[in-house]
Amino acid sequence: MNKTITTSAMTIIIVSIVGGAAFVAKPASASTALSVAPPKLPPGLDVPAQLPSAITDPNVLVAWIKLYNRTEPFSLWDGRTLTGRELAQFLLDEGIPVVWDVDGVCGGNSCSVHHWTLFGWVYEGQAPGVDPIYIRPALQTDPHGLLMVLAHEIFHRTEPFGRGVDTKFEEYWAFRIGTAVAPAEWPVFDGYDPMQSRGLSLWLRDNNLGAYHRLPAYPPGIAGLVVSAGEARPRSLSTDDKLRIQEEARLMILAADPANVAQVGVLPAWPGQGE
Ligand SMILES: [Zn+2]
Repeated sequence: MNKTITTSAMTIIIVSIVGGAAFVAKPASASTALSVAPPKLPPGLDVPAQLPSAITDPNVLVAWIKLYNRTEPFSLWDGRTLTGRELAQFLLDEGIPVVWDVDGVCGGNSCSVHHWTLFGWVYEGQAPGVDPIYIRPALQTDPHGLLMVLAHEIFHRTEPFGRGVDTKFEEYWAFRIGTAVAPAEWPVFDGYDPMQSRGLSLWLRDNNLGAYHRLPAYPPGIAGLVVSAGEARPRSLSTDDKLRIQEEARLMILAADPANVAQVGVLPAWPGQGE
């Protein structure tokens, strides 16, 4: 398998988002930095010697430095811990640009573009360089919200459950991590058990995150944990699941823009399916 094959297979893109409308099928294009007043860096922050050259906007750079200074570990679903600094370091190491979504790639939200290939969903498209994280421009004047969303979107880019479609479970943890580094009253997490699919659905509903309802509940990798938590029907992805997810992706792309029917028509088979 070489890169040429990989990139030539790309036909469909879907984005994962923070809040609001669900999915957009639209080519990623270059975004430009907005003209803003240089932000002030809060005193007392540890500024690393190496800053991410892929971040050119001063507001975003300040948010990245704040994230780098979040060193308190928070516990994940499997007992591991994660810090804001680790997320910041990941962005630096991977050279992932963070840009304002002035072209509306994310449909009014923040996102990374997900590309469909013969080998599954990936974050790297055909364009040269590393695909950026797009940030909703309204956050330019909301540094707290920017920090939250930056952590959320970097968490997605770490592919915490491996390659694959986004899930309710991944969104739940992306939001939890976002509010761990930038405390907020929304979303509310108390009283919802993420290890039960009903708990996930109620959490989405009660926090007005209905746009995520169409996502699968869990990534295959955490099925065993769901079993131990008493989930009724834990399982890895069956062929039916894969076909259902593929069809959902097709419908979501069509819903975003009926003009995409030409692209949807060439949605390739799920890896390993058929010949
Ligand atoms: Zn998300």
